[in-house]
Amino acid sequence: MFGKVLIANRGEVAVRIVRALRELGVTSVVVYSDADRDTLAVRLADEAVCIGPTPSAQSYLNMSAIIGAATSHGAQAIHPGYGFLAENATFARACADNDLVFIGPTAQAIEMMGDKNIARATMARIGVPTVPGSDGPVTDVSQAVRFAAVVGYPVLIKASAGGGGKGMRVVEDEASLESAFIAAKTEAAAAFANDEVYLEKYLLKPRHVEIQVLADTQGNAVHLCERDCSIQRRHQKLLEEAPSPALTPKLRARMGETALRAVREVSYVGAGTVEFLLDTEGNFYFMEMNTRIQVEHPVTETITDTDLIKEQIRIAAGEAISFCDRAPLAPLCHAIEFRINAEDPDRHFWPSPGTITALRLPGGPGVRVDTHIYQGYTVPPSYDSLIAKLIVWGVDRAEAIARGRRALQELVIEGIQTTIPFHLRVLDEPDFADGVVYTDFIETHFGL
Ligand code: ADP
Repeated sequence: MFGKVLIANRGEVAVRIVRALRELGVTSVVVYSDADRDTLAVRLADEAVCIGPTPSAQSYLNMSAIIGAATSHGAQAIHPGYGFLAENATFARACADNDLVFIGPTAQAIEMMGDKNIARATMARIGVPTVPGSDGPVTDVSQAVRFAAVVGYPVLIKASAGGGGKGMRVVEDEASLESAFIAAKTEAAAAFANDEVYLEKYLLKPRHVEIQVLADTQGNAVHLCERDCSIQRRHQKLLEEAPSPALTPKLRARMGETALRAVREVSYVGAGTVEFLLDTEGNFYFMEMNTRIQVEHPVTETITDTDLIKEQIRIAAGEAISFCDRAPLAPLCHAIEFRINAEDPDRHFWPSPGTITALRLPGGPGVRVDTHIYQGYTVPPSYDSLIAKLIVWGVDRAEAIARGRRALQELVIEGIQTTIPFHLRVLDEPDFADGVVYTDFIETHFGL
């Protein structure tokens, strides 16, 4: 096991990694920007080092500053968390070049899965169904028009390097194709420094169902069931749950086995997620693979009684997955995660940074809160708006929903606006209670 690990991230995930390292008896070093001097991870970690000014480009994305901090503090490995450098193959290589272990897959696996076009082609080659799409990038509008004429509208323009719902445009008809094509390319160029786009058939009423996987360097690969992330606003997840109300044990086994085929094909090592769209007939299509830990990993930890961050660290240290002798795992309970964002749901989810003047966290049975906020903490405007994750669980979905409602009512965050009231509205929808959730749920139920 490592003696010291550097955490190249901030916010709740930095706190989450500090906790895992502490339990493993590993010394933690967290990096921070000028804006994050007073953050909880800095207080909880064994060591902390400022790596630059507030803008992420000069701090959390500054590879040489981060590698320099790891080397000068004597760390043997770097945990990238999610976002920032977590899926950056250049960073993974830079770690290796500096004798640092990158806690994640190889640079090659990141590259193969990070480009959605290459990932789709790889999956198609091994017989995993993908959403009907343009074979490869689409470079001009006439090519896009021809593709759409073949598969029929609506179509979806996607950025090859996409993530977080950026660079995506739904196109309903040929008249709007050209402007959407240009807009998607511009957005992709700004967000990912890569304007390559491709087209997919836009599926109507799919569910977003993803499979969590883990693979170690000793040849073990397991899946840890699914998460249903259909509750999204503008293609960004807001609430995740497991098990999916739509899956039977048979379908779970099929999707799990398919995800593991993808893992084996790219000789994947570490934690990863294979994302699928599931249609109303039970057909599923590969969408993408995320080569990192995800925001919603606590849902899986809860239903499988595992610690995914500790597994990531163990795997990176060359150890075997600690529970591979008891895989395959089945859901032990029902869990729901609510993303608490510093956003105003009454004002188009506009960011709401500021100082938290009062904070009351929920407790009692079946409740977990992963957060970096505390009373008096100021949420900076410069980063992602996720400020807490509330995870609740119960013996079944009904109990998890009742606990979710109770815990959301107990949770008080004053001084800023948050998504708490919006989550309560979701739970009150009869369709949600019935498990009738598709990726257009928020649009159709709230017009958002
Ligand atoms: P990102 O990497 O930007 O998050 P994804 O490829 O994971 O993008 O897609 C995000 C969401 O967009 C999905 O969860 C789903 O709701 C929607 N989506 C993506 N592709 C399609 C498609 N072909 N048809 C319908 N919805 C889609």
